[in-house]
Amino acid sequence: MTTTLPPNIQMVDLKNQYLRFKEEIDREVMDVLASTAYINGPKVQQFQADLEEYLQVKHVIPCANGTDALQIALMALGLEPGDEVIVPAFTYVATAEVIALLQLKPVMVDVDPATFNVTAELIEQAITRRTKAVVPVHLFGQSCDMEPIMEVARRHGIYVVEDNAQAIGADYTFADGHIQKTGTIGDIGCTSFYPSKNLGAYGDGGAVYTNSEELAVICKSVANHGQSAQRYYHDLVGVNSRLDAIQAAILGVKLRHLDVFAEARRRAAAFYDQAFAGISELTRPARQSNSTHVFHQYTLLVNNGQRDALQAHLQEKKVPCMIYYPVPLYEQKAYRSATVRGRGGLPVTESLCNSVISLPMHTELDEESLAYICEVVRSFFQK
Ligand SMILES: *Cc1c(COP(=O)(O)O)cnc(C)c1O
Repeated sequence: MTTTLPPNIQMVDLKNQYLRFKEEIDREVMDVLASTAYINGPKVQQFQADLEEYLQVKHVIPCANGTDALQIALMALGLEPGDEVIVPAFTYVATAEVIALLQLKPVMVDVDPATFNVTAELIEQAITRRTKAVVPVHLFGQSCDMEPIMEVARRHGIYVVEDNAQAIGADYTFADGHIQKTGTIGDIGCTSFYPSKNLGAYGDGGAVYTNSEELAVICKSVANHGQSAQRYYHDLVGVNSRLDAIQAAILGVKLRHLDVFAEARRRAAAFYDQAFAGISELTRPARQSNSTHVFHQYTLLVNNGQRDALQAHLQEKKVPCMIYYPVPLYEQKAYRSATVRGRGGLPVTESLCNSVISLPMHTELDEESLAYICEVVRSFFQK
């Protein structure tokens, strides 16, 4: 071992990132306090415009969190109870939760074993006459292969709502060479500003985005009590979901650094990749040629059935790690009656839940910490 005492390593380091931008962020927050524009107001409008510019999307509708963003998007599509919405079974629960909450029917499908993302082929196999939408999740920071997914969706006349909570800033390249940000390719994109996300607030936050004028108007109305263009006239049953002005001010500062943050994450990922190259029991994260990776998570596959033992070893050596996700959605108590659709079950999801492990990943990882983490992982396989 190069270090005798383990450095203080965290899964996500919010504190040191804050300290780097403290002056600017404190000033922005104090501005909001002094202005008393606590709801909507100039900071929210400015952040909305900045995010539209960054994503190159026509409309951003800020809201209270990423789960609300998904709910608002699905409410805007005018679906009927019982309509089927396809989701990957290997994702965070929020993706399926909003579907169930709206009395729609989540149909869970498998994912690709290399990218952990849902594919056009898996989606198409699950489409029936009742299917109205699909929610591809850009898991761990890499885009789903969106071009064939859009082709299948258009051919079957179903909506595409992208769950971009983990991949904000990632670029997807189409066959003709043009590039779009994840979340701006489908009908509606949804993102989360939960503190540990790649663009994290200091509390909750989220956004819906779309290039459709029509869907933007409806999403905006749904997020604001279903109010029409005329104040106190309500055309829809909506929700109350707003991005806090203080959070918008903080996000405005951090958005300017989002690409630099992604670069820091990629550097950490490259360090891990190199350190684990010779360990045959580990599969490193796959890189797709048509998507950049913003590494919301750095997730390894442990191929020898020793995942839980590796987890215990890391914990013992004070290296934090997480299992995203330990249980397929359809095995969660609340979702046991959900429909699962795939040839021979969902074997990839089953196997991923037993073999994935995510290592510390954030913008403040220094070489000493990375070297320590890698040494601890390596020592497990050299026993
Ligand atoms: C974080 C996350 C959400 C939910 O976002 P919140 O802001 O926590 O509501 C939804 N989907 C995925 C894939 C996420 O990672």
